[in-house]
Amino acid sequence: MGYFSADCLACGHPLLCEWVTNTINAWMTAGVAVTESGSVLKGRYDGYGALISPRGERFEDAVGMTDTSVWHEACWTANGAPTDYRGPSRPSADQGFFFDDGDHALPEPRVVPVDGSRPGVLITYAQLASWTGRELTESDLARITDALPHSSIPDAIGEIASALEGS
Ligand SMILES: [Zn+2]
Repeated sequence: MGYFSADCLACGHPLLCEWVTNTINAWMTAGVAVTESGSVLKGRYDGYGALISPRGERFEDAVGMTDTSVWHEACWTANGAPTDYRGPSRPSADQGFFFDDGDHALPEPRVVPVDGSRPGVLITYAQLASWTGRELTESDLARITDALPHSSIPDAIGEIASALEGS
């Protein structure tokens, strides 16, 4: 049996085994699978359907063979670490193995550190990519972060908030 994989619910890229990653997408080996019965399995993807936990447990058939909801761990974390089953992940067209170098060259989604004692608003990687209509590189993300305070966004938030005061 050859390699196979499933696509992450957030970014649409496959879970990758360590043999096919490079520096930029090494984070795509860490996966989370949520089963239909609600178990949350976490580990590194072995390329053959199993997630290997940090303690060495093997979760066989966690990825691609059964109807699990599959995420990259970083994408899962950036989306609020959901533990609910969200339907089966799509089997990866390239089996998470037969692809060209640039195909999955996506930087790791970042969780912006927030003050944990108060709720906040997070702009996720998936949201930014959806607004811009393309995948973003590490340097795109750094430039967006720098540009945000000087953009119209702070004014827009102020306007939204003052509209709330009147309602
Ligand atoms: Zn992902």
